Formats: sequence, C-alpha cells, structure tokens
Amino acid sequence: MREYKVVVLGSGGVGKSALTVQFVTGSFIEKYDPTIEDFYRKEIEQFASMRDLYIKNGQGFILVYSLVNQQSFQDIKPMRDQIIRVKRYERVPMILVGNKVDLEGEREVSFGEGKALAEEWSCPFMETSAKNKASVDELFAEIVRQMNYASQPNGDEQCCSSCAIL
Ligand code: GDP
Repeated sequence: MREYKVVVLGSGGVGKSALTVQFVTGSFIEKYDPTIEDFYRKEIEQFASMRDLYIKNGQGFILVYSLVNQQSFQDIKPMRDQIIRVKRYERVPMILVGNKVDLEGEREVSFGEGKALAEEWSCPFMETSAKNKASVDELFAEIVRQMNYASQPNGDEQCCSSCAIL
C-alpha cells in the first residue's frame, strides 16, 4: 500500500484535527484528544517552529481556514509562502479549504474570496464541514489525486491542468 504524506496547515481552531478525524474515523468530535494524532499517523501542524520540518517531509498540503473567522483566512497566506519557500517549487500538491460551512449564518469569508485566492495560487478550492462531513472525503481524494499526478513523469503539467479544470 502506498503511503501519502499529507500535511494539514492552518491556524488554531480552524478544524484541522476535526477534518482529519472525520475522514479517518467517520465521526465528529467536539473536543479533540491530541493523543489520537499519533495513533492515526496524521500530521497536524501544532507549533510554528516545527512547520519547516513538516513541510519538508510533506508531499501534499491542505491549507485550512475557518470561514467564520476572517483572521484565519489572513493567516493562511504566509503559510502558503512558507511551503513554496521550503519546497523551492511553485507546483506543490495543495488545496485551499474553507472549513465550517455548516455555520453559514456566521460566515466572515465569502466563497468568492476563497475561490479568488485559490485561483491566484492555481490550486483547487473547497468549502467543507468536519461536523456534517460535507466534502471531507472529496477533499482527501483530491489531494491524493494531485499527489498521484505530481509523482508521474511530466507530473507538473498534469497537476497544472487538473488545477485549471477545478
Ligand atoms: P484545530 O486546532 O485546527 O485542529 O481545530 P479543531 O479540529 O480542534 O477544531 C476546533 C473547534 O472547532 C472544535 O471545537 C471543533 O469541534 C470545531 N469544529 C471543527 N470543525 C468544525 C466544523 O466543520 N463545523 C463546526 N461547527 N465546528 C467545527
């Protein structure tokens, strides 16, 4: 079985743990137990100082903000810059995700703002809910698809065309 190293980045509280646990176990936990992290061998950025190391080892990146928190949307931009800096490459498999779409009434970041940023970065964009499982499986399927493209000969090109279609 092939192993995929996916790094989930985003500021605290955006739902990185909840999305990953929802994908792996199919359940939503209001309160997250950090010890579960090791058990599922998922990589979740916790400390900024560790981020370079996570990025170096990562093959695919899920950049998450909370769409009910404008600040978290601003926070994601330097994280993307850091990925490009560490990887020294523009075409890293990557997805931009606005999480907590179930909280539509409290939205602070419009769909259009998220979409525009993803277009600037030439990567796919999705709005998800770890709570009601909206687009969670699709999110992980898409990042795996991108990593598969990137690992093929001429993977760059195929990754770019996949981004363009989305
Ligand atoms: P992390 O710090 O990015 O790992 O964030 P967590 O996964 O720990 O989530 C922070 C809080 O937001 C927790 O109370 C979660 O239950 C909640 N949360 C995460 N995802 C969602 C979501 O999609 N919808 C709602 N309503 N709450 C969420």
